[in-house]
Amino acid sequence: MIPFNNFTRHVELLKVELMSSFDAFLERGYYILGEELRSFEKEFSNYIGSAFGIGVASGTEALWLALKCLDIGPGDEVVTVPNTAIPTVAAILQSGAMPRFVDIEKNTGLLDCGKIESVITQRTKAIIPVHLFGQSVDMDPLISIAEKYGICLIEDCAQCHGALYKGKKAGKFGAIGCFSFYPTKNLGAFGDGGLLVTDNEDFNDKLAMLRNYGQKNRYETEIIGYNSRLDEMQAVFLRIKLRGLDTANARRSAIARKYIEGLIDLPIALPLEMAGRFHVYHLFVIQCEHRDSVQNYCREHGLQTLIHYPIPLHLQKAYAFFGYRHGDFPVCETFASQILSLPIYPELTEMEISEVISIVRDAVLSTRGE
Ligand SMILES: *Cc1c(COP(=O)(O)O)cnc(C)c1O
Repeated sequence: MIPFNNFTRHVELLKVELMSSFDAFLERGYYILGEELRSFEKEFSNYIGSAFGIGVASGTEALWLALKCLDIGPGDEVVTVPNTAIPTVAAILQSGAMPRFVDIEKNTGLLDCGKIESVITQRTKAIIPVHLFGQSVDMDPLISIAEKYGICLIEDCAQCHGALYKGKKAGKFGAIGCFSFYPTKNLGAFGDGGLLVTDNEDFNDKLAMLRNYGQKNRYETEIIGYNSRLDEMQAVFLRIKLRGLDTANARRSAIARKYIEGLIDLPIALPLEMAGRFHVYHLFVIQCEHRDSVQNYCREHGLQTLIHYPIPLHLQKAYAFFGYRHGDFPVCETFASQILSLPIYPELTEMEISEVISIVRDAVLSTRGE
């Protein structure tokens, strides 16, 4: 059985280092907003190339606090894609703003910049490009549109730690970049965690207050704030894992090349890595007809696959009040019915990579013409 993720294998390789850093953490006896978090914020923002990093409780809260920081809320609209993970929209709703969707490109599954101007209204205050699956959205046209209409860009970087666009890291392009350290992400914590990056000192100062009860100094509250902090203990572990991120991403990329080589002649669509971008393969997503049969075949033959994501957000029950219908985002709807994610964690062995290729080949070929 090849599972979709294998955390025990991942942790095994780091165990000695994790345990000794945990010992030191217990010795220090400091748990919230301490030296480890400050160091991690500095190291991660340096990694992205941003001036500031602010650790928070999750990726969802990073997006929500970014909107708060930019004074976006009730009466405002925020543009994003309907094939993103639910939390992107959960964060927009938590701010009080309304999401407006724009369809995606068939090849990459990413926001289609050519369609964005048609959804911009007087109320549009922000665009949230989602660097889904590990590849950056085409940022240049998006930046031009944002500038033309005076709209903020907030990047959803939950799936793209380390991805590049024209030589710069994703997260570096918007007013604020929002990362998640949910355990499955390319950089994952042992629990929840998130972080915002920005080059703007005022945003940094405001975000540091927003996550900590609105306090400027201890016992002195300057703005209405919340409790959304990244724990010192998670920072300890994330600092260790950040050092291995580039190696892990390179391994994901190498596995992706092997998959592409092994599946290239099949009648399916493989992930398309666009010129000028480095794809960090958070997910390896193929598109095939008879997807459900292919997935069943894989399951029966010991390969776990997942679908990211099966129900577009404009068709979710909870979001019926947005007023969208079937057919509103045709590219996204077809995409959702054909996508299938294959396991692509760095700890996969060469043998497992060959097995994945062989099972998927058999699955696609045996379900043709059904
Ligand atoms: C994981 C994810 C988030 C949310 O992150 P959490 O840390 O789970 O809150 C947001 N957007 C996308 C695209 C994600 O994949």
